[in-house]
Amino acid sequence: KALCAAGIIVGLLAFFWRDTFNPDSISGARVLLTGASAGIGEQMAYHYSRFGAEIVLTARRGTLLQKVMEKCLQLGAKKVFYIQADMSSPQAPEKVVQFALQKLGGLDHLVLNHIGGTPFRMWDGDVEHTRWLMQVNFLSYVALASAALPILAESKGSLIVVSSLTGKISTPFTTSYSATKFALDGFFSSLRHELTMQKQDVCITLCILGLIDTEMALEKTRDKVYMSAYPAAEAALAIIKGGATRAREVFYPWWLELLCHLRDWFPDQRDVVIQSFYNYTSA
Ligand code: NDP
Repeated sequence: KALCAAGIIVGLLAFFWRDTFNPDSISGARVLLTGASAGIGEQMAYHYSRFGAEIVLTARRGTLLQKVMEKCLQLGAKKVFYIQADMSSPQAPEKVVQFALQKLGGLDHLVLNHIGGTPFRMWDGDVEHTRWLMQVNFLSYVALASAALPILAESKGSLIVVSSLTGKISTPFTTSYSATKFALDGFFSSLRHELTMQKQDVCITLCILGLIDTEMALEKTRDKVYMSAYPAAEAALAIIKGGATRAREVFYPWWLELLCHLRDWFPDQRDVVIQSFYNYTSA
């Protein structure tokens, strides 16, 4: 009986987690991708290219964007453009969306992925940094989404928001960053309700990532955390698949979903376990 029950559970899990992604759904899709010059964003640009998408890349560093664009064309992207923009400027989101619209003639996927630099250490009272980070990591996402929503509504498109485990379960050394990621969940989950109530067929996919082996993340967390990082290319693919299959949330690695479900069961014990993964003395 126990074996039979285990078989049923495994079968159900396999059914719910089965891969329904169809690469053809991305071929020719018009994609605006932020934070595309490095890290997970760069890897997403390459995956979208292999699937034959039309892409607008954005970040601040033009030389890197130019290199990513060239590689995207080699990999099979139908069209690629880039625009330099600093998302700490309140004017940047509108400018970037208008550029994408002009170059691609519409939009099927808006992928919000960029983040501003932030120290990985104990809170030091720098409120001005938190204000700036809110602009880059949160308010610019809201502004980009707002500018693109009417276009996504026309195409029945996808709005893909890249967040973090620390936007679901708070962790040490990430005060301001964690706040911006929790804010994304609050805003975009509320917006998801409203789009459904208005019968607007725009899907919002929130992506919850664990530690990923990007240069920036590895450099910041070195000697400060006791956990291994997962590959950026795999994280990028998980995000793209989630957006294309119109998933509500994506968890990478997959077991973060279980952690999030268990989050509030034993809060005191949870916090003790979390703190044991961080090195207080070197932060
Ligand atoms: P990176 O630091 O590697 O890349 C960040 C990207 O954002 C770069 O392309 C950078 O380009 C761009 N960027 C930085 N500042 C600005 C700005 N002011 N305006 C516009 N663009 C900017 O980040 P990751 O690839 O590691 O992270 C990508 C996403 O994944 C983020 O949303 C992050 O929160 C999430 N994530 C990452 C994890 C990890 O461990 N790596 C863990 C959990 C979530 P440029 O400097 O040229 O502007």
